Amino acid sequence: MIGSQNRDQLEFFLCGTLRDLIPDDHILARVDRVLDLGWLNADVADLYAPGLGRPGVAPEAAVRLMLAGFLLGIVHDRRLMREAQVNLAIRWFAGYGLHERLPDHSSLTRIRQRWGVARFRRIFERTVQACVAAGIAKGEVVHVDASLIRADVAWESLAVRHVDAVTHANGDGADGDRIAEQEGLRKSKKTGKFKKVCLTDPDATMATSGRNRRLEPSYKQHGAVDDACGVILDVEVTTGEINEGQAILDRLDAVAALTGASIGTVTADAGYAYAKVFAGLEARTITGVIPTKAEPIRSKVPLRRFRYDAQHDLVKCPRGKILRPNKARIDHGRFFASKARDCRGCDLAALCLSPSRATKSLVIVHDYPALLRARRRRERWSEEDNRLYRRHRWRSEGFHGEAKTWHGLARAVRRGLDNMRVQSFLTAAAINLKRLAAAFLAIICDLIVRQRSWSQPIHT
Ligand code: SF4
Repeated sequence: MIGSQNRDQLEFFLCGTLRDLIPDDHILARVDRVLDLGWLNADVADLYAPGLGRPGVAPEAAVRLMLAGFLLGIVHDRRLMREAQVNLAIRWFAGYGLHERLPDHSSLTRIRQRWGVARFRRIFERTVQACVAAGIAKGEVVHVDASLIRADVAWESLAVRHVDAVTHANGDGADGDRIAEQEGLRKSKKTGKFKKVCLTDPDATMATSGRNRRLEPSYKQHGAVDDACGVILDVEVTTGEINEGQAILDRLDAVAALTGASIGTVTADAGYAYAKVFAGLEARTITGVIPTKAEPIRSKVPLRRFRYDAQHDLVKCPRGKILRPNKARIDHGRFFASKARDCRGCDLAALCLSPSRATKSLVIVHDYPALLRARRRRERWSEEDNRLYRRHRWRSEGFHGEAKTWHGLARAVRRGLDNMRVQSFLTAAAINLKRLAAAFLAIICDLIVRQRSWSQPIHT
């Protein structure tokens, strides 16, 4: 017989709790078992005046609503609150009964503004500490990577930099360029133009993740992932144009301080292969599994044929002549130059010297010996190093993919660096809670299996 359903249910009687209606394997039910926000009220108490004004949204309920949104991939407040109206699981997770009025979506915005970035970082850090306490994160082998996040701005909001416009308007290019350099602005090597700026979100900067891709207004998320179970140990967001190598050492220090463990090995891709990074890892006695970049070939006599002697701070050329440091300084290194009389009559001069130069001049970057050691080490990578680097691919790149595909991190939800950081912390907290819930489930299953095996008669 064909079944029928009465759709005129005027009343809804509930016998039991909302929890009874939610499947045990629902993501919010699983996360609820491991989520502890009992510390939160004390942490934000200084932001609320006791006994004054109307009672605000309970801090734990607000965080639970936000986390539910990130866990379910509903990252916009309006959409989240519309969904929460009809979604039993979100209501139960946040602690709202069926007939209770949910907070307005703007309350979540005001809470984010009032609490600030530091408190959301603490929520994320608590999830890391919970993972460490549960034994699913050790902080000894760490995979580091960065990923661009598209800013929430329209293409129409992009404009050329003001200084560029003024320069062209005045027709005084040299002066304009000097002012731009003083302001730390750089022209694109390809087009010779200054990069555009976002008028609606000035914190986002133009960046690209590949040479064949166009520049987009972006933020950059720097993430550190634990090797054991993929727990996210640290996230930080900068503007898109910040280089990976600038952030890694500070982030590793933050990871070590948070987990309380000393990091033994770090893996990263070639985007981190800078002398400064290798030297920083050596100073912290961390083994870096980072593929070094091929040396750029700018001369027919490559740089590797010039031997740097760190003890005497000089460079020996292929013909045994000495290049000494001169006074010219650049940010990332020093110039070393040969003497004209040494190069005069040298059989390699035609290949080694620029056509208009009588001496050889080259740049030795700061911490160059560390880079050389890393290059030598790369040639002798062990099987374990190769295995770790393969894990780097799916651990750290997998984290960014998961965050973007399932938790709405492909695009910024709100504008401004602080808002982007809050989004990043809550996304990472949601992913860590998923890992923790999975580990908890595995422990329970293990206990059940053991209990069953104990209750079985032992056959001898
Ligand atoms: S040209 Fe000068 S720097 Fe180059 S190999 Fe000859 S002597 Fe050395």
